Amino acid sequence: MTEWQKSNWRNKPRIQMPDYTDADALHAVEAQLSQYPPLVFAGEARRLKDALGAASRGEAFLLQGGDCAESFEQFSADGIRDTFKVMLQMAMVLTYGAKVPVVKVGRMAGQFAKPRSAPTETVDGVELPSYRGDIINELAFTPEARIPDPKKMLQAYTQAAATLNLLRAFSTGGYADVHQVHAWTLGFVEGEKAARYREMAGRISDTLDFMKAAGVTSDRLHSLQTVDFYTSHESLLLEYEEALTRLDSTSGKWLAGSGHMIWIGDRTRQPDGAHVEFASGVLNPVGLKCGPTTTAEDLKVLMAKLNPENEEGKLTLIARFGAGKVAEHLPRLVKAVQEEGANVTWVCDPMHGNTIKSATGYKTRPFDSVLREVQDFFGVHNAEGTIPGGVHFEMTGLDVTECTGGVRDVTEENLSDRYHTACDPRLNASQSLELAFLVGEELTK
Ligand code: PEP
Ligand code: MN
Repeated sequence: MTEWQKSNWRNKPRIQMPDYTDADALHAVEAQLSQYPPLVFAGEARRLKDALGAASRGEAFLLQGGDCAESFEQFSADGIRDTFKVMLQMAMVLTYGAKVPVVKVGRMAGQFAKPRSAPTETVDGVELPSYRGDIINELAFTPEARIPDPKKMLQAYTQAAATLNLLRAFSTGGYADVHQVHAWTLGFVEGEKAARYREMAGRISDTLDFMKAAGVTSDRLHSLQTVDFYTSHESLLLEYEEALTRLDSTSGKWLAGSGHMIWIGDRTRQPDGAHVEFASGVLNPVGLKCGPTTTAEDLKVLMAKLNPENEEGKLTLIARFGAGKVAEHLPRLVKAVQEEGANVTWVCDPMHGNTIKSATGYKTRPFDSVLREVQDFFGVHNAEGTIPGGVHFEMTGLDVTECTGGVRDVTEENLSDRYHTACDPRLNASQSLELAFLVGEELTK
């Protein structure tokens, strides 16, 4: 077998990537990014791999979440803080329910490139190239805005670096201290779920007081004062990924330096395609979206390519079939995994199979469908005797109205109130917390 090179993907068929017209500008950006520091380090990626291995054995549980697409315009410290805060709340609820550590991974600090269902978009008879995420072109519906501009990769890198810097500060600088469990209560999370959260927070505080009184030293409490928070994104724009790929001197292996975990989307998982080729050679944990069209044969080839040493925690299969379709597809893929004796971490993405267009024209996802897909996912794993290892959500800490339903019942008419996503509809803070309680119940069944 010839040795993997970070540029080998260039010899494979590529889809869902822009055709940059200015080759000189592209090369200049690639050269610049290649000199910049990696955003993450190999030891961190290895630690996440170990944690995902624990999730594959039922000894931990993955919570992966964040925006569908990060945006340049909406980039703010408050936005990052609020999403981080909701993830901590959700993790607390899940840990409390499942009594296992929750592995926290943001769709953050790199989630800028988007695959699209069509290459162009037509509005009022005008046809323009589709928007492909802020790292590629702009959302505005004008010919200039839709031209792919390689320089946007530099802005994405800078925003990712600033995001990670803040996340690292939040994770270790006191904000994530479990003693703050009350302070994480967001102002706008009201009602029954907030009351349940406060009650749980009260019990956690009591336990902490007891531990302190019983003489548990601050040393031992260190793990309660900081949190491991990792980043992830879809590895779609391979020029950006390649430029940030570095050799790890400790292991002699290649690290995708753009984020701790990368994943391959449902549209770019062709076994002989460019995206699989790139992901097959990096040491990071890799996610693979599995949809209704994933065949058992392809999955077997993909598992061999993406996890050739059959390491635990290396490969996460992110199932996204849609409510009502899980029973039809998940068992056949579970069987394929078993036939190969492959180590994988099974995760449920209940978002991407449940997108509908509302009567008012907005893309939305009904909360009930999201919940039902999660329940179906747990149901199949319980029936098959396999391990549900985690969940993957599109969510935000902001009080948006993008998905319908939930205890505070967002209706189709409400969607226009605060619909801010640059791409797919996200769960808001209240819906996210509600879902965490319901997933916690599934975990304790
Ligand atoms: C996504 O995660 O935003 C996405 C596009 O998912 P999928 O590839 O599963 O459709
Ligand atoms: Mn999405």
